[in-house]
Amino acid sequence: MPFTAADLNLTDPTKGYFHFVLYAEPQNGAAGAAWNATISIERPSMYSREWMNRLQRCEPDTLHTTLVHPQKMPSLFQPCVDEDPDSPSALMGSGCTCRRTWTDPLFGLPVVGEHYRTVGGQIDQWTYFTYAPLDLRPDDVLSAVVIDRDSGLFWARTSTGDLALLPMSNSQGYDVGRRGGGPGYFAEYLHQVVASNGRDTAIARQPYNPDVDPNLLAWVSSPHSNRTQELTLPDLKAIQRG
Ligand SMILES: [Zn+2]
Repeated sequence: MPFTAADLNLTDPTKGYFHFVLYAEPQNGAAGAAWNATISIERPSMYSREWMNRLQRCEPDTLHTTLVHPQKMPSLFQPCVDEDPDSPSALMGSGCTCRRTWTDPLFGLPVVGEHYRTVGGQIDQWTYFTYAPLDLRPDDVLSAVVIDRDSGLFWARTSTGDLALLPMSNSQGYDVGRRGGGPGYFAEYLHQVVASNGRDTAIARQPYNPDVDPNLLAWVSSPHSNRTQELTLPDLKAIQRG
């Protein structure tokens, strides 16, 4: 089924999840995202901390289970070793492989944290999993795009200052600093945002476009793009002019 913007209006945005399409094959026990890109945050950054600071811890729900391997779903409901040394997720009283669940109150997407602490605690880290939305909220206007090389992620800043994961398709991940499909998809997205003055923020309508703006494509393929930076719409327009 071809993607159209109307397909995004699946839920009441005042009540439900924004711009997320659930994919399920009940007969095979498979559930997850078909269109939305799955995001993992392993390396914290200034931007990922800003995003994480607004997350609200919550009880696991159906969408959290789609971010966990089916055999690991019970761990969503087990306490951390810090809360219960006898938790089924605890290892010898100090190691831990628990999960924690949050929701992003601004964009309604589920977030699962995966704890990995070795016995004795020499390694103690959290990895966070969520989905990129297929679009921002209905009235959002994008004011800046963030290339976050510290976490390896791409973010959108709205005109009201909110930070969101940049809308991204499962099959069209973004990249910078080289030639190839990832920078091509990113240039296509930037072109769409610039052409609409920040109002068209949905994932690109079509697969990689060979006629993408040459100045944007040259820039995202160059070393100049390969550092952490927040690019406003005027910045992007200046890059497009060459
Ligand atoms: Zn834990």
